[in-house]
Amino acid sequence: MSYLAKNYNRKKIAFKYGKGSYLFSTDGKKYLDFVQGIAVNSLGHAHPKLVKTIRNQSKKLWHVSNAFQIPEGEKLAKKLCQKTFADYVMFQNSGAEATEASIKVARRYFYSIGKPHKNRVLCVQNAFHGRTLAAIFASGSKKMTEGFGPKVPGFDHFVFGDHKSLKKKITKNTAAIMVENIMGEGGIKVIPDFCLKELRKLCDKKKILLIADSVQDGIGRSSDFFAFERSGIKPDIVPIAKGIGGGFPIGAVLMNKKVASGMKPGTHGSTFGGNPLAMAVGNTVMDIISSKKFLNNVKRSSKYFFSKLNKLKEKYPSIIKEIRGRGLLIGIQLHKDQTKFIKKLMENKLLTIRAAENVIRILPPLNVKIKEIDLALKIIDKVCSEVK
Ligand SMILES: *Cc1c(COP(=O)(O)O)cnc(C)c1O
Repeated sequence: MSYLAKNYNRKKIAFKYGKGSYLFSTDGKKYLDFVQGIAVNSLGHAHPKLVKTIRNQSKKLWHVSNAFQIPEGEKLAKKLCQKTFADYVMFQNSGAEATEASIKVARRYFYSIGKPHKNRVLCVQNAFHGRTLAAIFASGSKKMTEGFGPKVPGFDHFVFGDHKSLKKKITKNTAAIMVENIMGEGGIKVIPDFCLKELRKLCDKKKILLIADSVQDGIGRSSDFFAFERSGIKPDIVPIAKGIGGGFPIGAVLMNKKVASGMKPGTHGSTFGGNPLAMAVGNTVMDIISSKKFLNNVKRSSKYFFSKLNKLKEKYPSIIKEIRGRGLLIGIQLHKDQTKFIKKLMENKLLTIRAAENVIRILPPLNVKIKEIDLALKIIDKVCSEVK
């Protein structure tokens, strides 16, 4: 009997500890973990530098109110701004909070310039922005919103890739367009660089804001620090979470100077957001991932993984339909439902997770070793040969 509410369909497996790319179960088995908490443990399990950071900071200071200065947060915000388009950062605790706060920043900006009617956010139908009331209605997904009405107003939707519907849905009340650079839960669908460029141009032309949800594809996951960097664009607002904490819950909103002008004392807050313990961890993660050498290594691992996966696709064309994604945010799309395949991978000690459109999501730690990728490929090859 479990006293946990039944909002998850959990696999019957628990883990005692983790080390790097591996997890060790309570029944003594060793698994290659290519879920990593869904792109959260960007440096794998129990990274020595993160363990050291937590140990040291936990002896000094865990939490103080945002009513006081928090130097660790100042430091992390500075690093994030120096590395990216952003001029200001607002710390939260999770992805959903970060996307909601991003919507608040957008609305507040238009309010502050005397255009409060510009308050609607245009989103991709069936995107994923988290599970708060606003975030589920931002996604517009029937599955996520069912039973949670009344509908939170203020969101419009367009179909992924349908440029006509996108342009048609922009009205005088639109404040922002919000997209995931790479749809994670939605099946690892990448917005092509030229589309991101056009999206930026469109927002400029219509004088609306661009929110690039980088919760899953940010912080090195795409092999660039941010996935949108490759297109050369600068969004106005970027929510982040997952990878920045390396396993510690951290969320944040990055924003440019223009939109930040709407955020005055008292407009937003978070009790836990940006506390010293979280910020100490975030600083260590940031120092490691933001280096050029580290990101180049992610690019190398990614290139290797993709080329080998595409070979498997050629070997098993009746099973694998497409290899999707970028960096180490990888989707293997099957022709058929992926449930059984994922189960078989797990029986062979490789952990993966599903996404929409029959996709198996593969999320190794960003510092994954080539021999670990080889092991995963061997297991995927074996399962392909068995389900044939
Ligand atoms: C996971 C995710 C979120 C929500 O993050 P939580 O920490 O689960 O609230 C939001 N946006 C995207 C793109 C995500 O992948």
